[in-house]
Amino acid sequence: MDTNRTSKPHVSLLGLGAMGTALAKTWLAAGHPVTVWNRTAARAEPLAAEGARIAATAAEAAAAGRLVVTCLLDDASVGEALAAADLAGKDLVDLTTGDPEQARAREAWAHARGARFLSGGIMATPPMIGVPDSGGYVFYSGSEEVLAEHRETLAVPAGTTYAGTDAGAAALYDVALLSAMNGMSAGITHAFALVREAEMPLKDFAVLLTDWLTAIAPAGHGTAEQLESGVHDTNVASNLAMQVTANATLLRTAGQQGVDPVLIAPYLDLMARHVAEGHGDEDGTGMVDMLRR
Ligand code: NDP
Repeated sequence: MDTNRTSKPHVSLLGLGAMGTALAKTWLAAGHPVTVWNRTAARAEPLAAEGARIAATAAEAAAAGRLVVTCLLDDASVGEALAAADLAGKDLVDLTTGDPEQARAREAWAHARGARFLSGGIMATPPMIGVPDSGGYVFYSGSEEVLAEHRETLAVPAGTTYAGTDAGAAALYDVALLSAMNGMSAGITHAFALVREAEMPLKDFAVLLTDWLTAIAPAGHGTAEQLESGVHDTNVASNLAMQVTANATLLRTAGQQGVDPVLIAPYLDLMARHVAEGHGDEDGTGMVDMLRR
C-alpha cells in the first residue's frame, strides 16, 4: 500500500461487476486504500495494478476495515457472500438494488451480526460514477450516523442524498424514480413508433421530444402541492374531461399510423375512469389515490 493511501479511510468493496468496478476505480483514483473481493476472482485482478488489495474471500475483505460496501447483483447475493463474514463492529453500506422490505430485513440481519447498516440506491450508471457534474447520486437510508461518519468517502463516487431513518426508504425512492422513468420511456417508445415513417428526420424529432418532456416535467411540483393540500380542482389549466376527449384523438392517430397503443392505453383508461367517477373538472392528481385503493 503506498503511503498516500494511508491518510484516507479504507474501503472494503464486495462486488466487481460494472458498477462495483466503477466504484473501486473512483475510490482508488481518489487515494483511498481499497480491499476488493469478487466471486469470480479474475474480475478483481486488473484492479491490483491500480492499487487495490485483492481479498481471497468475502470474509477477508470484510475483515480489512470498518467500512464494508456491497454492490452485488441482488439482495440474496449479499446474504450469500457475507454468510461467513464477521461483521461485529462494521459499518455495512449496501449499494445493491433491492426492494424496501429486503432493505429492512438486511438491516435487522446486519444488526444481529453487530454491524451498523446503511442502505443505498444508486441513481447513476457506471459511466456517471466519479464524474462530479454527471447528475448521478446515491439515496441512502438507515443509520444517519453511519452516513455522517463516512459521507466524505461515500461522496467520492457520487453525490449523497439521505432519504430517512427507515432502511427501506432509499429503495423506495430509487424505485419511485425508476418507475417514473419507465413511464417516460414507454411514452418515448410510443412517440417514435408514431413518427417512425414520417418526413422529419428522427434526430430532429428527438430534439422536439426532449424539449417537450423537459418543459412538462415540472408539473410534478403541482402534483405534490395538490396532494399535500387535498385540493384538486383549483388552478386547473387542462381539465381531465377535456384531456379524455383529446385521448380519443391519440388512439385514432395510433390506429392511423399502425401503432399498437399498448404502452399508453392503461393510463388513458385510468383517466377515463376518473372522469366517469365525477372528477372531470380536476387534473390528473386524483389518480394517485385511485392507484392506492
Ligand atoms: P453486474 O451484473 O455487472 O455484476 C453483478 C455482481 O454481482 C458481480 O460482481 C457478480 O459476481 C456478483 N454476484 C452475483 N451473484 C452473486 C452471488 N450469489 N454471490 C456473490 N456475488 C454475486 O451488475 P452491476 O455491477 O451493474 O450492478 C451491481 C448492483 O448495482 C446491482 O444491484 C444493480 O442493480 C445496481 N445498479 C447498477 C446500475 C448499472 O447501470 N449497472 C445502476 C444502478 C444500480 P461475478 O463477477 O462472480 O458474477
